[in-house]
Amino acid sequence: MSGSRVAVGVDIGGTATKAALVSETGTISHRTEHVTDPDAGTKGIVAVVEEMMTVAEAAGLEVVGVGVGAAGFIDFASGSVTFAPNLVYDDPAIGAAVEKVVSVPVAVDNDGNAAAWGERTFGVAPGANDLVLLTLGTGIGSGIIQNGRLVRGHTGAGAEFGHTIVEVGGPQCGCGLRGCIEQLASGQAIERMAREAVVDDPASSILDFATSPEAITGEDVAKAAREMDGTARAVLRRAGTYLGIGMSNIANLFDPEVIVLSGSVVGAGEPYLGPARDTLAEMTASQKRRPMRVVLSTLEFDAGIAGAAALAFDKAGDQV
Ligand SMILES: [Zn+2]
Repeated sequence: MSGSRVAVGVDIGGTATKAALVSETGTISHRTEHVTDPDAGTKGIVAVVEEMMTVAEAAGLEVVGVGVGAAGFIDFASGSVTFAPNLVYDDPAIGAAVEKVVSVPVAVDNDGNAAAWGERTFGVAPGANDLVLLTLGTGIGSGIIQNGRLVRGHTGAGAEFGHTIVEVGGPQCGCGLRGCIEQLASGQAIERMAREAVVDDPASSILDFATSPEAITGEDVAKAAREMDGTARAVLRRAGTYLGIGMSNIANLFDPEVIVLSGSVVGAGEPYLGPARDTLAEMTASQKRRPMRVVLSTLEFDAGIAGAAALAFDKAGDQV
């Protein structure tokens, strides 16, 4: 009956709380999605878990565990949020709140960690024991697997690549520091750099796609770059170069087998990814390191759900 065993995977971000049932081979079914209530993030998680348990029972599927990938610093052992700059949880003890409504093991981890575990279990890097995943979206998240284990740190605040500094005295970051890579290579960084750049180049085709400089999105910059707009390409080149510098730092810290890139900014394509790869290649060559393998996620926006479920299967297996 192993074909009927599933885990509930939950992925909670600033805008949406998504969940689904995930089979042991990574097949995702019975999806649901709700708007995240910034004042009741934990209640939202509990609600989708209860919804998924009902759906699974009706479908005759056995739920063996529940996994939650949540934005913020997470203490994996207790399943609690210790710090969440962009999201307000009404109850930081997410694991305990979910355990009140289910009788199966519950795993709660940072969304970047869950996504990394998802790529290793069901995605682009099966079984990779040394993997670093970067989620390049509005911000930059990360998950680091070393020797087959997720790097979480002493309090769950580790593996926060987005808040490593790549420019001394650079732009202010929401975390309290300046010059974090999140402020120089993410979607919000591209938007800010484009707003600044169109002041000097008001003829840029970026403004053909955005209604005003304030309304510029990363997607507008990507579209203009595809039309060979010089200003748009310069913005993406700058952001991609910082990403390459960041990946060189990763190579020096972890020497991973593979770096997996995911998130909406990957959609900007070669004008962004090309300079990132080139910068990384130049830096690794300067050090006479082996060339680093950089691949794009195959799970894409499902990595959070699939990874949370993979963590749940593992936790359920541990308790057999
Ligand atoms: Zn920061």
